[in-house]
Amino acid sequence: SRQFTRPLNDLANQFNMILSAIAGAERVFQIMDEEKEAVDETEAVDISSLDGEIVFEHVSFSYEEDVATLKNVSFRAAPGQTIALVGPTGAGKTTVISLLSRFYDADEGTIYVDGEDIKNITRRSLRKQTAFVLQDSVLFRTTVRENIRYGNLVATDEEVVEAAKKANAHEFIIKLPDGYDTVLSSEGSDLSHGQRQLLSIARAMLADPSLLILDEATSSIDTITEMKITDALTKLMEGRTSFVIAHRLNTIQNADLIIVLKDGQVIEQGTDRTLLEKNGFYADLVRSQRQKGIG
Ligand code: ADP
Repeated sequence: SRQFTRPLNDLANQFNMILSAIAGAERVFQIMDEEKEAVDETEAVDISSLDGEIVFEHVSFSYEEDVATLKNVSFRAAPGQTIALVGPTGAGKTTVISLLSRFYDADEGTIYVDGEDIKNITRRSLRKQTAFVLQDSVLFRTTVRENIRYGNLVATDEEVVEAAKKANAHEFIIKLPDGYDTVLSSEGSDLSHGQRQLLSIARAMLADPSLLILDEATSSIDTITEMKITDALTKLMEGRTSFVIAHRLNTIQNADLIIVLKDGQVIEQGTDRTLLEKNGFYADLVRSQRQKGIG
């Protein structure tokens, strides 16, 4: 196993329901949790572009009364940085992402996006600036071309192909029975896991967002496809603020900022170097991974 933490089984399920984040495709949008779902303030404004600075300032959040899920979480991501969220299952990594995408609003503290309180930014426009690449790609029973076009519904066929090329997906697509016109089975089960990832990267390329949410795959993918995915992700992440729920030591080591969460609290943050020097929880995690011969 190459995973750094146990798989986040519910993440893909949650985000399957909220594909509008990827596509602006409101038609497949389902509210996850009516009661706590964030509601736009009447004065909330649309944003059309972002530098991608994200600040959490003393953010606390509970799904249920008396059970604090995030406690006093603070960090700053500068535009274009890669932020690795690390920690055991249930630590609150997914919840950080959910608040960042305004699926919920913080109970206490403030989240700033480019210096603006996130509550003053409409959810719709925030999500248009965000693309998700998840372990289980959200694919539909339609053509490969349309599946990619969900990233930007007004993209031309040429732009779809260009995105697929950047995502290292073009090569396998043109070998499919009908190329870009191949109709995928439900959930893309006729593609390999790695191919589904490449399609989802192509879709994100086309969306051209300022913010990226990545949930690293934990299941094994063949080495060549894995190299293609890594290369495509590197291109995709360039110039965008990227939050990675990271399972691979390599990704984590290269992050600009590692946020170590445990029981809803940031117990450490820094770079690989500063955290190893600190010789705390992160250093222990890395050592235990190494002992298993990983990374
Ligand atoms: P991680 O992504 O680090 O595994 P999560 O953010 O998914 O952690 O979960 C943090 C805590 O919040 C866990 O105890 C989890 O059971 C709880 N939790 C997550 N989603 C919900 C929800 N929709 N309702 C109630 N509790 C939840």
